[in-house]
Amino acid sequence: MSKRKSSKDDNVQEKKVKFNHWSLGLLETLNDPKNLVQEDSYTHVIKDKFPKATYHYLVISKQDISSISKVTKDDVDLLRHMEKVAKKIVQDVNNSDSTYQFKIGYHAQPSMARLHLHVISDDMISPCLKTKKHWNSFTTDFFIPSEDIVKSLVNDGQFSLPSDQQCKNYLTQCLKCNKCDYVPKHLGDLKKHILGHLKT
Ligand code: AMP
Ligand code: ZN
Repeated sequence: MSKRKSSKDDNVQEKKVKFNHWSLGLLETLNDPKNLVQEDSYTHVIKDKFPKATYHYLVISKQDISSISKVTKDDVDLLRHMEKVAKKIVQDVNNSDSTYQFKIGYHAQPSMARLHLHVISDDMISPCLKTKKHWNSFTTDFFIPSEDIVKSLVNDGQFSLPSDQQCKNYLTQCLKCNKCDYVPKHLGDLKKHILGHLKT
């Protein structure tokens, strides 16, 4: 699957991405088989431990790529595969519960180690969604659709991530409903408002 040159190259790059103990939590979660929703040769799938919507899964690369920022054109097959796994999860959920639309993508600046793809329903209803940063990280361009990254890699051989300043702007921008023009004063107002968007 991977056309990466050598793990030595990865190790050199690895030094530039710093992860602390907390950010190794996904790998710790993977250590306990009962947390696994499914796996194949290239990916593990788990439920997000702090889901930010009704359905929130993570498709995690088995290959030791620390972050989306380390992905190159050599990884396009892996990214395509991760997206395929994500779409199958959506299909399976929708077969039993067709209420939800899903987003499939990467955070521009992930906080957790090992390349992982978010598969998240767009209702954003969850007790774990507690901050503006949580909201904005899934509803602004801080969240990058997998399809966009794959398309850029295929067409241009590369993709660009938003700058540090752009990321900061996305995460701190004013709250806005992801389904209409409603602009709340507080996250609490928004959390009440989005209940009205649930299909009955
Ligand atoms: P990211 O910002 O893309 O790195 O997102 C990391 C995701 O991992 C977040 O949605 C967290 O809720 C989730 N998370 C954090 N710690 C754990 C853990 N130990 N096990 C599973 N998911 C976790
Ligand atoms: Zn709304």
